Amino acid sequence: MPNNDACKAYLSKIKWQDGFTCSKCGHTKGCEKSGYRYHCYSCQHVESATANTLFHKVKFGLQKAFCVAFEMSTSSKSISSIQMGKRFSIHQGTAWYFMQKVPKTMKSS
Ligand SMILES: [Zn+2]
Repeated sequence: MPNNDACKAYLSKIKWQDGFTCSKCGHTKGCEKSGYRYHCYSCQHVESATANTLFHKVKFGLQKAFCVAFEMSTSSKSISSIQMGKRFSIHQGTAWYFMQKVPKTMKSS
């Protein structure tokens, strides 16, 4: 399982692959801060790699969420939320809810 930092590194790469855009004001100039965050030059907003993604404040943790999403995007056959829940020790309902959000987000990556 990748650690939290590796997850964030990956997310920041996807999120800002076309450059930074501030979610608050739309400004595109900023600088990268430690911990995979971006500091907007215009409104001083600091955005984390997980903000406004499906990984933001996931109840069962970034690492597990990341693994679920990764599993879903790489597996050729569909995995049920029951299987996923068992594999990562997540409540089935929680796994299901999270999995609903994954496809549209991970498609591009
Ligand atoms: Zn801004």
